[in-house]
Amino acid sequence: NRRWVLAERPKGEPNDDTLRLETVDVPEPKDGEVLLRTEFLSLDPYMRGRMSDAPSYAAPVEIDQVMVGGTVARVAASKNDNFAEGDRVVSFSGWQDYAVSDGTGLIKLDPNMPNPSWALGVLGMPGFTAWAGLTQIGQPKEGETLVVAGATGPVGATVGQIGKILGLRVVGVAGGPEKCAHAVETLGFDACVDYKAASFADDLKRETPDGIDIYFENVGGKVLDAVVEQLNTNARVPVCGLISQYNATSLPEGPDRMNWLMGLILRKRITMRGFIIFDDFGHLYQDFAKEVGPWVQQGRIKYREEMIDGLEQAPEAFVGLLRGEAFGKRVIRVA
Ligand code: NDP
Repeated sequence: NRRWVLAERPKGEPNDDTLRLETVDVPEPKDGEVLLRTEFLSLDPYMRGRMSDAPSYAAPVEIDQVMVGGTVARVAASKNDNFAEGDRVVSFSGWQDYAVSDGTGLIKLDPNMPNPSWALGVLGMPGFTAWAGLTQIGQPKEGETLVVAGATGPVGATVGQIGKILGLRVVGVAGGPEKCAHAVETLGFDACVDYKAASFADDLKRETPDGIDIYFENVGGKVLDAVVEQLNTNARVPVCGLISQYNATSLPEGPDRMNWLMGLILRKRITMRGFIIFDDFGHLYQDFAKEVGPWVQQGRIKYREEMIDGLEQAPEAFVGLLRGEAFGKRVIRVA
């Protein structure tokens, strides 16, 4: 059983000393437990937060403990009546080959599901995040303008495509011309603006001539700076993530604009609401599955995945994800 444990807490970007690969015995399931063989490991931005012991909504991974993570796994042995050997489940087994579970929180997958790894993306946590943040906090109304950054990532791509289905003008923000072309040509966004271009703020203005009614916040940083200027009266901002800041070790330089921002929120009666997907909206999971599942099946929502072979690749692939090197959802094929 190979497993990645947290060796030390990173300052800034995780490096070779952050995680350690260990080999230990395969655990033995006790009565009531199952042994899970990891097939796919999801890589997600929140994992950077778990490496840190700064205050958060969830406890950090302890030093020498296995890195946490969502997985698709096969039941390799079962001493739990609810699961049989060979069942495929979504689990939270972490960065390792095998894990033992008492069954709590396991979600059984249809054995005939065509792309089981999608349960870690558009048909799982990131897709649910997109749907819930947009519909519950974004409160979309036909004809409004939605801006979403990380436009080709698992959350952003789903936000934008649901936005189109709901009749919004959708403007993506992504890093580079290739990702922007994908957002427009494949995902069907109305426009996509490259935040790495020098003309980014002007480009965003040009593509949002009627201002912005919903800004689905995934990244923070300079994208947020440019968007805020364009927000309309009564705009809604689901605050989902701030990935541009996850490796930051200090606040950005520059004038303190806190009161300017608060003034804007007041004058324009803007609603900004943060959310932690399962804590805030877990009760809506079935509604999400019922609505978005068929859209994916019918091809109305497209999904792009980057499958990377080998558990040993996970740390490098994760650092690349935070750097913006992923093009689609990053998943590690473990077995
Ligand atoms: P993504 O694939 O979108 O994350 C990676 C992408 O983030 C990169 O490809 C890059 O986009 C973008 N990015 C990285 N650094 C920067 C930067 N400095 N400026 C702008 N963009 C940057 O991951 P997910 O779709 O899984 O997650 C999207 C967001 O949602 C994250 O912030 C995540 O933490 C959050 N999240 C929150 C949840 C919640 O419950 N609140 C649940 C799930 C996710 P590009 O290539 O275009 O540069």
